[in-house]
Amino acid sequence: MSPRFFNTLTREVEEFEPLEHGKVRMYTCGPTVYDHAHIGNFRAYVFEDLLQRHLEFRGYEVERVMNLTDVDDKTIRGCRAAGVSLALFTQPFKQAFFEDLDALRLRPANHYPEATDPVHIARMIEMIKGLLAGENAYRADDGSVYFRIGSFAAYGRLAHYNLDELRPSGRVDSDEYEKEQIGDFALWKAWSETDGEVGWESPWGRGRPGWHIECSAMALGLLGPQIDIHCGGEDNIFPHHEAEIAQCECVTGKPFVRHWMHCKHLLVDGKKMAKSEGNFFTVRDLQAKGWTGREVRYALLAVKYREPLNFTFEGLEAARKALIRIDEWWRRIADLAAGAGAAEPLPVELFPEKFGEALDDDLNISAALAGLFDLIRDSNRLFDRGEITPGQARALQAWRDRIDSVLALAPDSDGIPAEIQALADRRIAARREKDWKLSDSLRDEILSLGWQVKDTKDGQKLARG
Ligand code: AMP
Ligand code: ZN
Repeated sequence: MSPRFFNTLTREVEEFEPLEHGKVRMYTCGPTVYDHAHIGNFRAYVFEDLLQRHLEFRGYEVERVMNLTDVDDKTIRGCRAAGVSLALFTQPFKQAFFEDLDALRLRPANHYPEATDPVHIARMIEMIKGLLAGENAYRADDGSVYFRIGSFAAYGRLAHYNLDELRPSGRVDSDEYEKEQIGDFALWKAWSETDGEVGWESPWGRGRPGWHIECSAMALGLLGPQIDIHCGGEDNIFPHHEAEIAQCECVTGKPFVRHWMHCKHLLVDGKKMAKSEGNFFTVRDLQAKGWTGREVRYALLAVKYREPLNFTFEGLEAARKALIRIDEWWRRIADLAAGAGAAEPLPVELFPEKFGEALDDDLNISAALAGLFDLIRDSNRLFDRGEITPGQARALQAWRDRIDSVLALAPDSDGIPAEIQALADRRIAARREKDWKLSDSLRDEILSLGWQVKDTKDGQKLARG
């Protein structure tokens, strides 16, 4: 049976069927590289990673694009403040983004197009020319080009807004008066002094693309006129994705996206985690506090993408405990399976298919993990009674490997969970600084997580407690 996902366009859970049999084309809006991405952004990327991995688990080939927005108001403001070129300013944030992706074990996309790539800029200009030719766009006196939302009857369909009711959403550009209608958005922004060195020549003079046309051009250029899934956080629905539909469909005359999927925001005290709110953590902030990428991944992954998720340190503690439980179970299986021959069928009470079925149900990860923890509890009971054979342990091992292609939560290879190792490393540093109080409290914390730390003449050693 096919997986079923909620479609923002229809507001219904629908059976998922890609256009081309067995192959999924997927576009995911990526970061604006004016700073480090925060873990709210990573909630979106972890959800997209789970989606890709589950589709692959179900046998689909996935081709995925994630763009990097490396020119917009924020990046321009940033490079001007830093007194460096746009490319020099965004480069370290691009690099940091890829490091964070790695730390969170996110499967790399097939393409990471950058908006400033001349190939894509040329595509954006071509698209805008087409929109002008079709009277879906118009030029303003200053050389900017706007999309005429009144020319596209379906505008507002994704967000379920009525075109007549469209009101400005708060931020009003100083050049608003140039527009025919308040909801019209910029395809091309004429160069102004605040843009400094940033700008490209176009038939409408020097300027730069609007954010929406960047994604449309990169999506069409890399994946073709019709794609299967387009994702982002819920703030992307309007106007960004609404605008993407309008631009693409006016140019190609074809339905752009079959399935729109958006995750709910990561919240802090009930508010969206956002740079502008100052209530954010980056992955590296959390790593500096001793949390591992694997723990952050778990905390972001474990709540279904359409449920609100409030960020708390208790949530990270719970992630740490859950991972330790999984690790212990995995070790138990590995110990028994070592030296076993072929896998043997599992006892009927260990029915492991619930995991995949839960994810087929609109990526119900909470149910999938509940299924995993039920299996851990039930198989541990059988282990305790000596009722699991080495061959059955081998079958469990194979199943674990299979679900880990989706979860990506396996412990690092030396057998000591990374989070225990991180605490132990901090303890070594504390002892070097002669901070005995911290050293003792780290020892207690390690102990509470099921590990013992021993100081030997060869240094600190870890053992299961
Ligand atoms: P930006 O860099 O602002 O363009 O955002 C990159 C991606 O992160 C987009 O898909 C946003 O929708 C998503 N995003 C931003 N903030 C949050 C949040 N607090 N929770 C979930 N996703 C978010
Ligand atoms: Zn986008």
